[in-house]
Amino acid sequence: MHELSITQNIVAIASAAVTDATITRVTLEIGQLSAVMADAIAFCFDVCTENTPLQGAKLEIIEIPGVGQCRHCQSQFPLDQPYGICPHCNSLELDIIQGEELKIKELEVEPLCA
Ligand SMILES: [Zn+2]
Repeated sequence: MHELSITQNIVAIASAAVTDATITRVTLEIGQLSAVMADAIAFCFDVCTENTPLQGAKLEIIEIPGVGQCRHCQSQFPLDQPYGICPHCNSLELDIIQGEELKIKELEVEPLCA
């Protein structure tokens, strides 16, 4: 399962980034064109965080809408798939300028009490 290894990665990165603290919230940005199912990430998160500093952390997912830019007329338009047709000049040549991201946007931590 694609999303399982992605979630394991996220947990590993977050665990490595934070020492001497408990992670209480993880905010992810997932682009709509990244072919990653936000629901599946959320499902894997609880399993992957067991016995890690992220156990019990809240997961927040921000979905980033896809945006394409036409290589011919430079206009920008929304995309819900990683390809499309420019609505202005009907060109098929476009660059995806937003919507492929998959990153940890924010970690909320709580210092460990001695
Ligand atoms: Zn165009």
